[in-house]
Amino acid sequence: MDYYEAIKKYGKVYVLRIGHRPQRDKRVTTHVGLVARAFGANGFILGDICDKNIVESLRRIQRDWGGSITIECGVDSRKYTEEWKKNGGEIIHLTMYGLHIDSIIEDIRESNRPKLVIVGAEKVPAFFYQIADYNVAIGNQPHSEVAALAVFLDRLFGGEELRIEYPNARKKIIPSSRRKRIVSLE
Ligand code: SAM
Repeated sequence: MDYYEAIKKYGKVYVLRIGHRPQRDKRVTTHVGLVARAFGANGFILGDICDKNIVESLRRIQRDWGGSITIECGVDSRKYTEEWKKNGGEIIHLTMYGLHIDSIIEDIRESNRPKLVIVGAEKVPAFFYQIADYNVAIGNQPHSEVAALAVFLDRLFGGEELRIEYPNARKKIIPSSRRKRIVSLE
C-alpha cells in the first residue's frame, strides 16, 4: 500500500499543537509543523495563539518544496477538539503516559475517520487526556513532541510517507551519496 492508499484507508490526519510558548517554543513548534508536512499530515493547526513567523516559514517551505498541507492558527484548542469529535473525527493524543504505540496502532488503523493528532509543550491539561480516543505513547520515556509526531506518522503510514513526491514543488533533491544536488522544477 502506498501513502495515498494509506490516507484513504486510515483517514486524513491533522496535527494540533497545543501549549505553544512564543518565547521558548518557536523552533520546536516550527519543527512540529515541518514534520507534519514532510511525514504526510494533511493539516497543521497551532492552537490558542497565532505566531506569524511560524506560519510564514511553513508556507515558505511549502511554496518551495510543494505539498498542500493546510495551516491554521489561533483556534480555541478545547472547542476545536470538541467540534472535531462532534463532526465524527477521532482524537489521538501523543503522551508518554499513554498506551504503547505497538499495542494500539492496529486499532487506530481500523477506521478511516479523520484523525486529529495532538502534541503538547509543557504540562498538558487533563481535558485533552479525557477527550482523546487514544492516548498513545511512543515508548513510555519522556522525549520530544517532534520525535513523537514523526514516529507516530511513520508507524501509521508504514514508512510510505517518506516517498511522497509533491507535484507542485519548485525544487527537488536528487539523492546523492556525496554532495547536495537540487534541481529547479520551474
Ligand atoms: N510533561 C509533559 C506532560 O505532562 O505531558 C510533556 C512534555 S514533552 C517535552 C512535550 C510533548 O512531547 C508532550 O505533550 C507529548 O505530546 C510529546 N511526548 C514526549 N514524550 C513522549 C512520548 N514518550 N510519547 C508520546 N509523546 C511524547
